Amino acid sequence: MTRPMVAEISATALRHNVAVVRQRAPHARIMAAVKANAYGHDVTLCAPVLAEAGVDAFAVASLEEAETLHALRLERPICILGGPFAAEEVRNAAARDYLLVIHEQRQLRWLETHAADVALRLFVKVDTGMHRLGFAPDRLSAVFAALRHYPRWRVLGLMSHLARSDTPDDLFNRQQADVFAEAMACFDGSTAGQHSLANSGGVLALPFTHHRWVRPGLMLYGLSPFAGRSGSEIGLQPVLSWRSAVVATRNLTPGDWLGYGATWQSPAHCRVGVVAAGYGDGYPRHLGMGAPITVAGQAARILGRVSMDMLSVDLTEVQAEIDAPVVLMGAGGAAVEVLAARLGTIPYELSCRIQARVPRRLV
Ligand code: PLP
Repeated sequence: MTRPMVAEISATALRHNVAVVRQRAPHARIMAAVKANAYGHDVTLCAPVLAEAGVDAFAVASLEEAETLHALRLERPICILGGPFAAEEVRNAAARDYLLVIHEQRQLRWLETHAADVALRLFVKVDTGMHRLGFAPDRLSAVFAALRHYPRWRVLGLMSHLARSDTPDDLFNRQQADVFAEAMACFDGSTAGQHSLANSGGVLALPFTHHRWVRPGLMLYGLSPFAGRSGSEIGLQPVLSWRSAVVATRNLTPGDWLGYGATWQSPAHCRVGVVAAGYGDGYPRHLGMGAPITVAGQAARILGRVSMDMLSVDLTEVQAEIDAPVVLMGAGGAAVEVLAARLGTIPYELSCRIQARVPRRLV
């Protein structure tokens, strides 16, 4: 018998979420962010569905991720956000026609040294206020002057990233958009006009950030970037349903201790189920005691500490025997956003944490 754990990935939900992007940003092309193994959802399962649902390009975080995607032969441009990351990557990236994102002087040197006569497609990243990657706006003239020496390099457009699109009413969004608009006005003629600013928050709530390419990630997986609102509440469908099952049950008598550290003591007669899931699978240990979990379709709570491969749930009021299905998080169970908030983190981190040993299955 195999361990009863699976992360189900819903193709229907992926398609629905692409349709939501299309509807919110009808004039933009969609560059689907599938970095970090499609935010933990498995890029080899998600990317073909996204391609079929009509996304126009993919965004990844490294040459290695681009290679994984390339092997799927989906015939969509692949953009390496922030890359190349080393001189050695330039020729490989060019040979594959990956879209590069130039944000730093030394990348220009690598391109000049290794690809002066090679056809390249580039975005130029401008720092509009996040101060993570990107040239300062007043550096752009010099950057474009350097790029003009290389007729085989095609600058698709400017790219930037929003720092606070998860709080759309924040004035900072408008300020970033204004800096971006000014840069576009100055350099539109030096590019193919394919500018890109919006991530999920921008797609959903800031239409003035859409431009030619939107770059949604989180919302494609049905998750909400907005604190206090789950994806389902804003019209998305959760893609992940992370499932396991009860593998043992036991009855505790008053005073019995449970689990590592013996941190929980049974106050009364109670029934405990042991679920095959733990922090070794990426279920956060700190969710632990009291976290919501769904057992045989009923709301239950975790008891005591989460171990590496197992966790315990209170079945005292829950009708469930050995083999009862469990939803750890996602569709059919506790929303990823709710668990993330409980943990003081964001849904991005929770889905990315799901470990390689958890089999993903497209449903
Ligand atoms: N673009 C860049 C440069 C990013 O770093 C990310 C995600 O971190 C995205 C787009 C997608 O953002 P989101 O998942 O919030 O839609």
